[in-house]
Amino acid sequence: MNFEFTEEQLAVKQAARDFARQECLPGVIERDELQRFPKEQIYKLAELGFMGMMVKPEYGGSGMDTISYVLAMEEISKIDASVSVCVSVNNSLVCYGLQEYGSEEQKQKYLTPLAQGIKDGELYIGAFLLSEPEAGSDATSQRTTAEDKGDHYVLNGIKNWITNGNSASVYLVIAQTDPAKGHKGINAFIVEKNWPGVTVGAKENKLGIRGSDTHSISFQDVIVPKENRIGADGFGFKFAMKTLEGGRIGIASQALGIASGAYELALAYSKERKAFGQPIMNHQIIQFKLADMATKIEAARLFCLKAAWEKDQHLDYTLSGSMAKVFASETAMWTTTEAVQIHGGYGYVKEFHVERLMRDAKITQIYEGTSEIQRIVISRSILK
Ligand SMILES: Cc1cc2nc3c(=O)[nH]c(=O)nc-3n(C[C@H](O)[C@H](O)[C@H](O)COP(=O)(O)OP(=O)(O)OC[C@H]3O[C@@H](n4cnc5c(N)ncnc54)[C@H](O)[C@@H]3O)c2cc1C
Repeated sequence: MNFEFTEEQLAVKQAARDFARQECLPGVIERDELQRFPKEQIYKLAELGFMGMMVKPEYGGSGMDTISYVLAMEEISKIDASVSVCVSVNNSLVCYGLQEYGSEEQKQKYLTPLAQGIKDGELYIGAFLLSEPEAGSDATSQRTTAEDKGDHYVLNGIKNWITNGNSASVYLVIAQTDPAKGHKGINAFIVEKNWPGVTVGAKENKLGIRGSDTHSISFQDVIVPKENRIGADGFGFKFAMKTLEGGRIGIASQALGIASGAYELALAYSKERKAFGQPIMNHQIIQFKLADMATKIEAARLFCLKAAWEKDQHLDYTLSGSMAKVFASETAMWTTTEAVQIHGGYGYVKEFHVERLMRDAKITQIYEGTSEIQRIVISRSILK
């Protein structure tokens, strides 16, 4: 066992840290308030190779490992979780899904520009469309249909809560082709946003990650060529579940970053703020809060890195990915709440950043499988 990072991994961490502080921190409060998508930041991250981190260089990616991805996600999420969720969806769900399960033609046509994050000088990213108004945790109840018409499918339905919904050029859409076959009748498709019949709904007005653009997307008689189906007929549900397993490492790392960002702010504040004639860090109750934060964050970090390492070794990482996500997201919620507490009244106002981190933390317990669903995955795994 080796707990040391390589020079390359440390360089990626440093680059992400510098980027987050120099490019994401300015304007983060305003973007949150105005719900403004961080387009400029994502474009620059694409130029630096952060949008297709784990994609092979022959498909336009940076060819990095998942450990580097965890390190980068933590650093970006410390500053702006609206930026990091966009990075996570493009890397873990869209690019990973296409690299692992796409055809050679799909990789050439879609994966390569998506991994670069730029096409013809414009931002070119993807979104992952599984959830529906009536199908969230129970993803088998897909109501979006893809009728098989021989050489093409006809797509109809509505998808909800889609991250990158308006900014993405390419959607990976999960839909039911044969309801009689249940989840074995589900397929996954590559759909371009500008195809006839695709409509982007209004932007959701959210509690947190307000810069991230979350939209419903509807499909009305959208013609999808057969070559845009991912994998064999009926592979769509497995595609979604396998892809989300990798996604959990991204969201766990996002939660880790939100927690460690709040901890760093609370630690610094506790040294500056005086109460009863001394810095509040001298009060034991504050010290113990900080000690618990540091301990939980380190545990969350180890969970994320273990899941990432298992993925890189091509081992089964279902259990460690779910443990990482549930632990890191609960650590993020707890740590950010305590960070607000350590800041007292100042923690409740926007200028001090911790209230935003607290609002951003909540989503990590919900998307890409709620904490309850992670516990179901964990118990299935340990009780088998
Ligand atoms: C900001 C945001 C961004 C998102 N981005 C995307 C995206 O890009 N793509 C996408 O496809 N989806 C996305 N989602 C959707 C997200 O993945 C779902 O909201 C999530 O999976 C939960 O589904 P639901 O909202 O329908 O809740 P439900 O499934 O209705 O769950 C409601 C509650 O019941 C609990 N519950 C459900 N089933 C069980 C059970 N069997 N046992 C115990 N408890 C249970 C849940 O844990 C939850 O607490 C996003 C959501 C948000 C809010």
